[in-house]
Amino acid sequence: MKSSQEGFADSLWWNESEEPPCGFTPHAGHSEVDVAIVGGGITGLSAALHLAEAGLRVALFEARHIGFGASGRNGGQVIPGLKYDPDELVTKYGADRGARLAGMVGGAADLTFDLIARHGIRCNPVRGGWIQAAHSPHARETIMRRGRQWQARGVPVEILSRDEVAARTGTPNQHGGWLDPRAGAIQPLDYTRGLARAAQRAGAMLHEQSPVRELARTATGWSLRAGQGRCTARRVILGTNAYTDRLYPGLAQSVLPVQSMQLATDPLPAGLAERIMPGGLMMSETRKLAFYMRQTPRGGFMIGGRGAVGDGEDRQLMMALERGMLKLFPDLQGVPVRYRWSGHVCLSLDGLPHFHEPEPGLLCLLAYNGRGVALATAFGRMLAEEIAGRAEAVYPRTRLVRIGWHALRRPVMGLGVRWYWLKDSLGFTSK
Ligand SMILES: Cc1cc2nc3c(=O)[nH]c(=O)nc-3n(C[C@H](O)[C@H](O)[C@H](O)COP(=O)(O)OP(=O)(O)OC[C@H]3O[C@@H](n4cnc5c(N)ncnc54)[C@H](O)[C@@H]3O)c2cc1C
Repeated sequence: MKSSQEGFADSLWWNESEEPPCGFTPHAGHSEVDVAIVGGGITGLSAALHLAEAGLRVALFEARHIGFGASGRNGGQVIPGLKYDPDELVTKYGADRGARLAGMVGGAADLTFDLIARHGIRCNPVRGGWIQAAHSPHARETIMRRGRQWQARGVPVEILSRDEVAARTGTPNQHGGWLDPRAGAIQPLDYTRGLARAAQRAGAMLHEQSPVRELARTATGWSLRAGQGRCTARRVILGTNAYTDRLYPGLAQSVLPVQSMQLATDPLPAGLAERIMPGGLMMSETRKLAFYMRQTPRGGFMIGGRGAVGDGEDRQLMMALERGMLKLFPDLQGVPVRYRWSGHVCLSLDGLPHFHEPEPGLLCLLAYNGRGVALATAFGRMLAEEIAGRAEAVYPRTRLVRIGWHALRRPVMGLGVRWYWLKDSLGFTSK
């Protein structure tokens, strides 16, 4: 069985990239900075960019290469908003904080596309909107409410009938949907590399092949063993998400890494390209075990769905993804699949991103629950603005809590997958 981590070079993004690899030198010797960042994904890079722009001394350490984690492997769907609806945020966090938080997450796609434009990042940005399609009549009710809540906040969302979804996407199998025009598509590895180069131009020091293996408190902050050297910093950001290792005790046990698999076809023949997910449109389903899809920058079709629990890629699940694609889009029969790859999504039990400060000056930001392209950009900036003393973080810190059954997560999640498969089939789930 092939390892998901090592399968990076099989991905569409790696093979069809316009931004060359960054080639940052490994860390050696001693460095001293205001903020040290662990993890070269979107969270760490957005924080690095905004901190450096605010004039702070920043060093970022990535164990492998920039974009090695979820940031360089994902579906490239730039979707604003948390999985909690705006009214739920107000109920959970109160009128003022809830409204500010809805504003921040609702503006996350704008921020992403603004950064791409401002820094000239070549990552094929297309703002064609995102349809969340209902897989059952029950799910339709949920997403209608969601669409109306954003409408009430001035977002020109469209509520779509079954026929309208079919006409726009080329699949007749959905029960309607809502379209969020703020959303769009990018080449995620190119975006991540572009963010890294922008951070470097702003003055951040970035190092690849530089795993951080030790983290220790000092009288004035933190000391890190990074790559072949040491770094001292007043503050540390851990942006390691589903790729979190043993660096800080309990962090890996506070979240659930799950695999998501993706495949991409050769460019669609004329006729199909205009009918199936045209115009930079993206779609996800409301199933718990959802499929998500779009066209690739070169006009192929791309779809993602659930992968194995664990690091090994499961061939059976990859074949199931291909069957799912043909069930939704029978016209794709015969179009060759060119790329198959996977990555780890970071889930939390409450479905929300987690922001912890378990010790003074040690900041952890992770668990975007499969929606981190725009959100990690926004949360990274939020953290940078707080550290730079510009604005208090609107998202509250929570206590770092280990999941009690983490050691048993594989069998437990295996059972959970079966349970959700049953509920999805009966149409009872929605997200
Ligand atoms: C298959 C897949 C599809 C997805 N599709 C979408 C989508 O379409 N839209 C969307 O919004 N979201 C999507 N997501 C989620 C999104 O990709 C993530 O939420 C986001 O990229 C998280 O970014 P990050 O910077 O927090 O973490 P990551 O990008 O995972 O980066 C973490 C990095 O930390 C490094 N690291 C770990 N430990 C150490 C250490 N000790 N020292 C140094 N470095 C270390 C790792 O090597 C890794 O590069 C998808 C995820 C996957 C896996």
